[in-house]
Amino acid sequence: MSTTAEPTLLDGRAFAKRVKEDFAPRVEALRAAGRTPRLVAVRVGEDPATSAYLRGQRRGAERWGIDYEIRTLDPASNEAAIRKAIKELNRNPDVTGILLALPLPEGIGARALQHEIDPAKDVEGVHPENLGGCFYGRYDLLPCTALAAVGLVKSSGIEVQGKEAVVVGHSEIVGKPAAMLLLGEDATVTVCHKFTADLAAHTRRADILVVAVGLPGLIKGDMVKDGAVVIDVGINAVKDENGDTKIVGDVAFDEVAPKASAITPVPGGVGPVTVAALMRNTVLACEGMPPLDDPNQLPLFNQ
Ligand code: NAD
Repeated sequence: MSTTAEPTLLDGRAFAKRVKEDFAPRVEALRAAGRTPRLVAVRVGEDPATSAYLRGQRRGAERWGIDYEIRTLDPASNEAAIRKAIKELNRNPDVTGILLALPLPEGIGARALQHEIDPAKDVEGVHPENLGGCFYGRYDLLPCTALAAVGLVKSSGIEVQGKEAVVVGHSEIVGKPAAMLLLGEDATVTVCHKFTADLAAHTRRADILVVAVGLPGLIKGDMVKDGAVVIDVGINAVKDENGDTKIVGDVAFDEVAPKASAITPVPGGVGPVTVAALMRNTVLACEGMPPLDDPNQLPLFNQ
């Protein structure tokens, strides 16, 4: 039996709009000072899934008043050529944010190239210096999706301190940093992954459940506690009964929603907030980073 008849739908589109409005005066001030934030996405070749993703970013940047450029390198580019492009952008004072779109061509690792991005321009928060920020509560250029997932919870007024948080998925860009951010908000955090022996035993204990795996319907109704807050990061393209492609998350929404106190839809949940997080980071990068030992913790968003 459910304790919650109607869960709160955590509407990522509405939240992303509020974040944009909160930041608008800061973007305006930068533009007025002749320092328009400028984000450059470096891609290698023209992978169609990446194109859709970058189109979403461009729309977000336009809404925020941020200049956005896609720099497409030759699909035959080797690591040295990509490195050179990143270094040029690092040196260019007009470029305030850089991201390296994935996937890269076969045989080229992303990590070494992500480390090449100037940490002060690393608006996806993938450089170790920025990932490290999650460990000591330095909330500037945080990894966007983790920031989106945890920021959505915090900004919705959901209490995190002292709660049991379970993160399913332990990737470097989502699961691990999301776990660190939840820890930073004083939750008791469990991280599950593909070798977790009894996933349901963990997820059933969660007051806050964050799922970032990439398996449609992994989390079923009987794996969730009544009243849980459920954040579905997964984005999976599946065929519906008519053979049309649709996007679903990792959570079996229809089964889980009646038990949840709050839940993100897919699409329209974490996805739009991730774009807002990227723009938030781009504004922060353009404003300039606070000193490393600044004791003032930045809010995740403007809450
Ligand atoms: P990843 O492939 O790097 O990591 C997947 C994680 O899931 C790993 O930690 C793995 O151990 C775990 N896993 C795999 N099978 C499992 C199982 N059966 N039980 C428990 N854990 C299991 O993926 P990622 O980059 O972290 O992305 C995860 C999902 O989030 C994907 O669907 C991706 O498309 C989506 N995503 C969404 C956004 C967004 O903006 N909403 C951004 C990035 C990624």
